[in-house]
Amino acid sequence: MRNVIIIGSGAAGLTAAIYTSRANLSPLLIEGKEPGGQLTLTTDVENFPGFPNGIMGPELMDTIRKQAERFGTEFVFGEVTKVDLGTRPFSVHFGEQSEQCGALIISTGASARLLGLDAERRLMGHGVSVCATCDGFFFKDQEIAVVGGGDSAMEEALFLTKYARKVSVIHRRDKLRASKIMQDKAFRNEKVDFIWDSTVVDLHENGTNELAGISIQNLKTKKTERRDVTGLFVAIGHTPNTQLFQGQLELDVAGYIVTKGGNTQTSVPGVFAAGDVADHVYRQAITAAGTGCMAAIDAERWLESQE
Ligand code: NAP
Repeated sequence: MRNVIIIGSGAAGLTAAIYTSRANLSPLLIEGKEPGGQLTLTTDVENFPGFPNGIMGPELMDTIRKQAERFGTEFVFGEVTKVDLGTRPFSVHFGEQSEQCGALIISTGASARLLGLDAERRLMGHGVSVCATCDGFFFKDQEIAVVGGGDSAMEEALFLTKYARKVSVIHRRDKLRASKIMQDKAFRNEKVDFIWDSTVVDLHENGTNELAGISIQNLKTKKTERRDVTGLFVAIGHTPNTQLFQGQLELDVAGYIVTKGGNTQTSVPGVFAAGDVADHVYRQAITAAGTGCMAAIDAERWLESQE
C-alpha cells in the first residue's frame, strides 16, 4: 500500500509531490492525459515568482517535475479510470493496474472550454489564449477579441483594456450571461465593443505561425467577415476534471471539489484537493502550487494522526 497517491501533474500535483517526497512519504504520481497540465498550453510565463526574465510554461513544468523526481517521487504515465473512496485504504485504478493508498491528493485541474476550431490548439500561446492575466501583457496597443458572454469574458475583456488598443467581445447571442455589474462595467468602457449573435468560425495565421486574423459569422444573417485581430481570448468557461469523483466527493454546482475553508480536506477524510480542480476563482500557476503544498502538508498530518 502507498502512503500517498497524487492524481494529476500540473503545478498543484507536482508541488504536492515535492513536499510529500521530501517528507519521506514516497508518493506515486499518476500523470494523466495532459502531463504538465494547463501550463503546457502557454508560452511565456512572466508572473511565476523566481523567474525575473520569465520562463516558458512547458519548461516551468519540466523544472518542477525534476525537483519532485530528485526527492524520489515515482511517476507513472496513465489515466485514472476509477477510484474507490468508500473504504480505506483508497483504491485508484489506471490502465490495467490498481494501487491502494492511505491518503489521496487530487489535482486533476480544470480544462478551459475551447471553440473546437482546427488551428485553436496549435495557435495557443501564439495569439490564442485562455488566460488574460497570463497573456494580456503581450498585446500592448493591439486589437484583440474575446469570445464569450459570461462573467469570465467580461472580466477578461476589462482586464485586457489595460494593454490593448481595442477589445471586441464576440458573443453568440444578443444578451450577455454576465452579472449586471460586470455588463455595466464592460458597456461603459470605451475600449470595449460588442459583436452580437456571432461566432468565430476560422483562425488565420501569418507566415510565422502567429494569429493574424479571425473570421466571424453572424448567426442570424449567416454573413462572414474577417477581422485582423492579433489576439483571441477564449472565455467560454472551464470544466473541472471531476467526473471520476461524482457521487463520492462533495462537488459544488459547477462540479468543482468542495474543500473545507482554510485547508484542502474534501468531504472524505484522507482525500485532499489542490489546484484548479477546487478553484474557479484564482486559477493561477502560483495558487495551484500553493494549494499543492497545502495538500501535501494536510496529507502528511492526516497520515500521522492515523498511526
Ligand atoms: P459561463 O457563465 O458558463 O459563461 C460562458 C459563456 O460562454 C456564455 O456566455 C456562453 O454563451 C458562452 N459559450 C459557451 N460555450 C460557447 C461556445 N461553444 N461558443 C461560443 N460561446 C460559448 O462561464 P464563466 O463566464 O467562465 O463563469 C463561470 C462562473 O464563474 C459563473 O458562475 C460566473 O458568474 C463566475 N465568475 C464570476 C466572476 C466575477 O464575479 N467577477 C468572474 C468570472 C467568473 P451563452 O450565454 O449563450 O450560454
